[in-house]
Amino acid sequence: RSRPATVTVTGAAGQIGYATVFRAAAGDLLGPDTPIRLHLLELPQARRAAEGTALELQDGAFPLLEGVEVFDDADAAFDGSSVGLLIGARPRSQGMERADLLQANAGIFSVQGRAVNRGAAEDFRAVVVGNPANTNAYIAASHAPDVPRERFTALTRLDHHRAVAQLAEATGARVAEIRGVAIWGNHSASQYPDLTHATVAGRPALEVLAERGLGLDWVDGTFIPRVAGRGAEIIDVRGGSSVASAAHAALSHVRDWVLGTPADTWTSMAVPSDGSYGVPEGLVSSFPVVCRDGRAGIVPDLALDEFSRTRLERSVRELEEEREAVQRLGLL
Ligand code: NDP
Repeated sequence: RSRPATVTVTGAAGQIGYATVFRAAAGDLLGPDTPIRLHLLELPQARRAAEGTALELQDGAFPLLEGVEVFDDADAAFDGSSVGLLIGARPRSQGMERADLLQANAGIFSVQGRAVNRGAAEDFRAVVVGNPANTNAYIAASHAPDVPRERFTALTRLDHHRAVAQLAEATGARVAEIRGVAIWGNHSASQYPDLTHATVAGRPALEVLAERGLGLDWVDGTFIPRVAGRGAEIIDVRGGSSVASAAHAALSHVRDWVLGTPADTWTSMAVPSDGSYGVPEGLVSSFPVVCRDGRAGIVPDLALDEFSRTRLERSVRELEEEREAVQRLGLL
């Protein structure tokens, strides 16, 4: 049994936060050998709801849960923290301009970045769930100059899971038989879910799809929009945005990052670019990654065909525009 790790969850009283903390306490975040202390950060007006969540966590009598504290101050919430699940964000309300949204979120994520810089543990790492997630991660990293940039990542694991599940359904395969799916770019409608390196039971996915009469027009016209638009589909059918699947993805993201990805495949994470695949250095973009020894490495040397390149460039352009907008507003 290792020493307890402090895990800071922002937006802990929100939907995704609520769905995440119980599974984190059950060992789904850092595995069955690492006890955790939960720091729940909320806005002052949601603090009491977070205190209610803390009571319920106590009632779970989780053997791995060594304590729960509730905060409305970022400095206190990130003090000694090893893992940040940055879920809370300002949602876009009706009639809100994009600049206002970026501004509101830049306020939240710059404060949290500074708090991490001031007091987080040496091994701190964070996944940003709150949208616009990639740019929020970029902002937080920019305000934590003493923390390696690669410790600030954003969630595209839900997109990855959606792509894997859609491919499994279309080919009649089991999810466990799928390898090599990748999400590139921004966690937004411009993302590129890539099947060109995917395999189904060891065979090229595009070949298996073609046998079923599903060609590149299916990939472009059905698969990609289905994955990128799945959030809207869930809202339409469920009557609310995805919650448990987003929580599951956030837990999987951190767990694989810390404990390693399976030996024979990769996953997708939005990480600061090292310049790979022409993505400007520093931009937080989704890539296929392999995690070993607590580090997420971008899978090198994949051949990207022209379609893939065009899609990736389009999404990266959007990321650059978001960064420029934040810079223009003087928020970096
Ligand atoms: P949710 O828990 O449903 O969502 C939280 C964030 O996750 C949103 O920004 C949402 O973006 C984002 N998200 C990212 N990917 C997905 C996905 N695939 N599906 C659904 N959501 C996704 O929001 P709630 O409003 O229930 O909860 C937010 C909580 O955060 C509130 O309790 C609020 O008080 C708190 N908060 C805390 C802050 C802090 O701790 N400093 C700051 C701001 C808010 P999108 O809106 O685009 O769906």
